[in-house]
Amino acid sequence: MSLQAVEKGRAPMDETERQGRIDLAAMFRIAVRYNWHEGIANHFSLAVSADGKRFLMNPQGMHWSRIRASDLLLLDADGSDDVIGQGAGKADPTAWHIHSKIHAGSPKARCVLHTHMFYATTLACLKGYRLQMIDQNAMRFHDRVAYDETFNGMALDDGEGRRIGGTIEDGKSVVFMANHGVAVIGESVAQAFDENYYLERACKLQVLALSTGQPLHVVSDEVAAMTSAQWQRDDTRDSAVDHFNEMKAILDRDEPDYKV
Ligand SMILES: [Zn+2]
Repeated sequence: MSLQAVEKGRAPMDETERQGRIDLAAMFRIAVRYNWHEGIANHFSLAVSADGKRFLMNPQGMHWSRIRASDLLLLDADGSDDVIGQGAGKADPTAWHIHSKIHAGSPKARCVLHTHMFYATTLACLKGYRLQMIDQNAMRFHDRVAYDETFNGMALDDGEGRRIGGTIEDGKSVVFMANHGVAVIGESVAQAFDENYYLERACKLQVLALSTGQPLHVVSDEVAAMTSAQWQRDDTRDSAVDHFNEMKAILDRDEPDYKV
């Protein structure tokens, strides 16, 4: 199957979806390179309609190192978990419940990355822990992290998606999911990738710092807020695109089949 193929009776593909498929497929391959994946589990999604309700997501049971643009499922957050366009296979039930509720309720959440990446998840499993403002990477996330303290087993209903969606509406872009993992939300795949990268770096440093048993040297709220604002300047947005494009260039060199 190729990206050009449009199957009979299914939604035709526009340019937003075509490019979205390539970017999201790249995101899965990049995530494998950073060891953010867990077996064949976890899930990313990308909205491809203006209202955010049509979105792409990975098929259940496919290892991220093999995902291609044409494998991604086109889904409708207002509908069932039936694939409405091109895609290989079906949606994982927990993924459907989480991502459909986020996209249905939060048009601003264009790209949603859910992982159990080691260091962020480690911190999400510490009782009452809050990301500490001890280095520049952590300060990037000053006042942008939400904490969902409720773990009710695996997400087999809409509750988890609703809770995560609610935190995004409050202006947060990262959700620490207690006893579970993290969700990172961005305006584009590039921005979500860059956020995810720096989040895991910040969390790794924090786990290492805690492991020394020494007191953390936390900066003032004012310094953390100022540093966060420096991260948010427009040139930082460009650097997210540069970062993502560099990673795609590496994929183009080593594993160009992600685009197919
Ligand atoms: Zn999970």
